[in-house]
Amino acid sequence: MALSPEILSLLSREFGERLDLSPQILAECAADASGIAGVPEAVLLAQDAADVSRLLILANEHGFPVIPRGGGSGLAGGAVAHRGGVVLSLAGLSRILRISPADMIAEVEPGVITLSLRQEAEKLGLCYPPDPAGMDLSTIGGNAATNAGGPSCLKYGVTRDYVLGLQAVLPSGEIIRTGAGTRKSVAGLDLTRLLVGSEGTLAVITALTLKLIPKPQAAVALAALFPDPATATRAVTAVFQAGVFPCALEFMDRACLTLVADLLPFPITGPGAAMLLVELDGSPQAAALDAERAAWIMDQAGATRVLPPVSGQERENLWAVRRQISLRIHEQAAVYLPEDVAVPLSRIPDLIDRLAELGQRFSLSIFAFGHAGDGNIHVNITAEAESGRERAEECASALVTDVLAMGGTISGEHGVGLAKKKFLPLELSPANLALQQGIKALLDPNNVLNPGKVLPDRTASALVRDQDLKK
Ligand SMILES: Cc1cc2nc3c(=O)[nH]c(=O)nc-3n(C[C@H](O)[C@H](O)[C@H](O)COP(=O)(O)OP(=O)(O)OC[C@H]3O[C@@H](n4cnc5c(N)ncnc54)[C@H](O)[C@@H]3O)c2cc1C
Repeated sequence: MALSPEILSLLSREFGERLDLSPQILAECAADASGIAGVPEAVLLAQDAADVSRLLILANEHGFPVIPRGGGSGLAGGAVAHRGGVVLSLAGLSRILRISPADMIAEVEPGVITLSLRQEAEKLGLCYPPDPAGMDLSTIGGNAATNAGGPSCLKYGVTRDYVLGLQAVLPSGEIIRTGAGTRKSVAGLDLTRLLVGSEGTLAVITALTLKLIPKPQAAVALAALFPDPATATRAVTAVFQAGVFPCALEFMDRACLTLVADLLPFPITGPGAAMLLVELDGSPQAAALDAERAAWIMDQAGATRVLPPVSGQERENLWAVRRQISLRIHEQAAVYLPEDVAVPLSRIPDLIDRLAELGQRFSLSIFAFGHAGDGNIHVNITAEAESGRERAEECASALVTDVLAMGGTISGEHGVGLAKKKFLPLELSPANLALQQGIKALLDPNNVLNPGKVLPDRTASALVRDQDLKK
């Protein structure tokens, strides 16, 4: 236990009813969507940056972990209190402070649900493009902490590209501002970019200034079925080479298609079938024209079936199929490891081929879907019974080794957290890791903020060296 009864009563005196010790809230905050669990000893429902600051000052004085939490939709265990301590919930800081059509920016608190911001911006003819598939659950603060992506990040970029500035509380409790409310700023080192994607290990985000763009007037989607993943991938390249730039280009393998066969507007034929969902946006004329061109390219590239481009409700129905996949994988598997590797575009067919081999070797069902245009494929390794967990873990290790050999990365968008921590040293050099550990130690010398996440703990010799430097 990280919190003694004395510290708990000190925290209760300090924060009153905002410190919640009820079994219900402790259970609610005991896991994220990765399934990784760890029950916190207390949950602080922060009401402002001053609460966050005070908690961190006390954490330094008394040496307990503080774990920031937004919507709890993370897929890497980043918001889980695996070493006990206080979960710091930012969910109550949920005000959209300002959306300015004149400045094309939004100022928000971190607990705003991603979908709400997108909807509010749209009412003013504006768009906040990052669209993680869990956006009805995730918060903007969590998106910034994980640098979340999504289907339309192919064309519009990831969360980091939309964060102009932050208010953040450092592990010491000091409150800082980074960036500016302008669309450009090069004043000093880019601390905004350092904190975005730091998975709650370097600072707690308590407010964000976000860039908005004009809302695209129209969006048109089409689906194409291919005999195999290699042909589908060639079609992806062909689309780009023709100068067509979709706002989403999603891939689904045969295993995924089988799961949602009842929702598909065509039968799945062939043992290696793969589907692409392509979306084009812009003015109504441009989107329609690009969609026609994309459909023609898919056909020429070897599609066995191309659905005519659709908009409105029919387009929504196509996306509903894509969204159902992860839900259905989750429902039918006792063990579920959501890997989200990314590889260079040309290596997607190699990756899919490897998945078939890995599935056979470890006797597991593997489902692959995701952002083909980014080479970011969500590889869901599943087993029907808990007894398959060890095999699934071994399979994930083998997958990561192959992906790195292809020039890829262990995570395209979900983050490292706890789930992929053991893989990070395989991707980053010792010097790179040591530099990152040094940045963490500089900001959080007592290791109170989300300890044990992302980076391996520092070695005893590095800690002694730090102490020597302080003398
Ligand atoms: C069905 C589903 C679909 C998904 N699709 C996508 C997708 O398409 N793209 C994608 O990128 N992700 C996706 N995800 C993963 C998840 O939604 C994202 O990682 C999201 O950004 C997490 O936001 P959250 O508010 O739920 O954060 P949490 O899960 O609460 O926390 C995630 C991490 O951020 C830290 N954190 C949270 N808030 C703050 C803060 N204010 N300050 C500092 N640190 C903080 C936490 O400590 C933790 O390390 C999906 C998840 C689900 C369940």
